[in-house]
Amino acid sequence: MLSWARPARRRRPDSTKEKPELNVKTTLAVKGGASTRARPSSAPDSADLKALIERIEACRICRDAPQGARLPHEPRPVIRLSSTARLLVAGQAPGVRVHNTGVPFNDPSGDRLREWMGVSREVFYDEARVAIIPMGFCFPGHDAAKGDLPPRRECRAQWHDTLFEMLPQIETILAIGRYAQAYHFGRLNIPYDKNARLDALVGSWREQEGRRPRVIALPHPSWRNNAWLKRNPWFTEEVIPMLRAEVARAIA
Ligand code: SF4
Repeated sequence: MLSWARPARRRRPDSTKEKPELNVKTTLAVKGGASTRARPSSAPDSADLKALIERIEACRICRDAPQGARLPHEPRPVIRLSSTARLLVAGQAPGVRVHNTGVPFNDPSGDRLREWMGVSREVFYDEARVAIIPMGFCFPGHDAAKGDLPPRRECRAQWHDTLFEMLPQIETILAIGRYAQAYHFGRLNIPYDKNARLDALVGSWREQEGRRPRVIALPHPSWRNNAWLKRNPWFTEEVIPMLRAEVARAIA
């Protein structure tokens, strides 16, 4: 599902009637709910961004002209963005559940991520305030061990640089996973050690204070990281309060 919100008046909070945006169709949703905050003068015209999103929605590169193995299923890009969202959730790639539903982070991992961020589902899925753009827009398939394959490299090569040039208003980036961390630290010329351990990378958050855009490296909120979270209590004690303050500032 590609979901897009154009600048307009802020959506009224707590409207359960807005749930249809979470439907299972792969559609380009042009919605009116958005922030009253003025866009930066450098922001592209909304029509340009909408046109780019429509091109992404129609993308079939990994099926028709792949760089490696052909995508074994019909592509279904799943991203959510707007020209007003100042907060970006940058993950890896949709899993099969997201591929089937079109709704990212609609699982226990998403619940934990929202808890870390201190936001409700309503805020999290308000693309006027929160963009969700993974490193691969489509589910990449499974490997032999039934794990998810890495994000398709075609996606970054084709779309990401162009897309983020058109989203200059993004100020805070929650980078989840190595692919998103390497890309966003790299494109913003922030020193990044690709061999750094996760605790060192996440633990370097103070080095980003005051920088805009600010990239905050996070562990994946999956249960698979429960042991990491247990070994690193400073994440809950120090990083989560900082994260909530950053998120609150970015969605205000
Ligand atoms: S993963 Fe990206 S490049 Fe590949 S088909 Fe989907 S949108 Fe296109």
